[in-house]
Amino acid sequence: MGLSAHDAISKGDKGSPGLPAAVRCTTERTGGRVRSASETCATEDWCYAHARRDRVNVAVANHQFRLAARPVGLCTRDDFSYTEEPLGEPADGEILVKVLYVSLDPAMRGWMNEGRSYVPPVAIGEVMRSIDVARVLASNNPKFAVGDDVVGIFNVQEYAISNGSGVTKVDRKLAPLPVYLSVLGMPGMTAYFGLLDVCEPKEGETVVVSGAAGAVGQVVGQIARIKGCRVVGIAGGPEKCQYLLNELGFDAAIDYKAEDVRKALKEKCPDRINVYFDNVGGAILEAALSRLARGARIAICGAVSQYNNSGPMKGPSNYMALLVDRARMQGFVVFDYAGRYGEAALEMAGWMAEGKLKSSEEIVEGLETFPDTLLRLYTGEKLGKLVLKVAGE
Ligand code: NAP
Repeated sequence: MGLSAHDAISKGDKGSPGLPAAVRCTTERTGGRVRSASETCATEDWCYAHARRDRVNVAVANHQFRLAARPVGLCTRDDFSYTEEPLGEPADGEILVKVLYVSLDPAMRGWMNEGRSYVPPVAIGEVMRSIDVARVLASNNPKFAVGDDVVGIFNVQEYAISNGSGVTKVDRKLAPLPVYLSVLGMPGMTAYFGLLDVCEPKEGETVVVSGAAGAVGQVVGQIARIKGCRVVGIAGGPEKCQYLLNELGFDAAIDYKAEDVRKALKEKCPDRINVYFDNVGGAILEAALSRLARGARIAICGAVSQYNNSGPMKGPSNYMALLVDRARMQGFVVFDYAGRYGEAALEMAGWMAEGKLKSSEEIVEGLETFPDTLLRLYTGEKLGKLVLKVAGE
């Protein structure tokens, strides 16, 4: 790598050989010490001129959160260690990226557990896995240029080196970058394929979705409306329910924190439930099973109400409703649809352009806040997609 990332991005220059790998400007404010991740340089984030001057003592530090222990129940700050290491250089075929936004996903809690799952667990001492939006600072891979914005699994850290596998370019002129972690990212793909492929909704049917004001749920409900279904969302608290009704056009909403969900489903689904998209599991899944229409389809997308149990997960006791109602309950993993993401993104971007599909993100700043911000997923203290902003664009 040659020129600093800042210069490379602003001048569109690929750099020249023989210059320092990656040196952060430290001179303006900090008198030469390596500044912390949260401090910003008075002039610019990376600075080639200062890099040259400081090359002896200021190799770039990369900060990250590593898994320190397997959590029992809700994870705590002690389950992570905040570490610093010098940034390496990308080898042949690799790219160096600066992480801008980290996606916070309920599944992260599952990745911290030992045992068989759809992806291997994060090992103790490993940087915590996450999907991120990042900017290419240096590239030895012909598929990527300096300045490209990309989405990939870069993990909870400031910088990452990747061989480009599973990395996709995104266009910040088409949508704000956080949207690529929301409707045009993994949650949107989950909603699209989970609803349309797994549940096969038909016009006029009743679709119920739990976790409805979350990243996946908000998209499921809106797509179901686009397909002409009657949509009932289940969410925690009056503000979220009002949001579903007034902003997203849901037909009805149930506040599971204040209402008896079983009773509310009876009132709000007079023709019973044709499609239930389950994000939460537990008692809400059981309530939905008690109100199925004949031939109902249930997508098991997730079970966020169970992820932090210190004991085993609780399943529904009334699963025989599937037999009585000739219903089908099917789990799915969004990664299995990776070959079709383009098709989904195209259609959803079209709906967004027509004003039929909204994307809402809640953005919290600062890598250092990661362990506390992650907990908001499980306490419900956020609306839509929760995103951690690590660096300015
Ligand atoms: P999210 O944005 O955090 O939304 C989930 C919502 O669940 C939260 O907003 C919260 O809102 C609600 N919730 C939390 N704890 C709850 C509880 N104990 N009981 C009831 N509701 C609770 O998460 P997401 O990204 O939309 O993900 C939703 C689900 O999909 C998760 O289970 C996730 O693991 C799963 N998922 C699966 C796939 C797949 O491939 N199968 C892919 C992505 C995500 P309230 O304030 O309303 O409680």
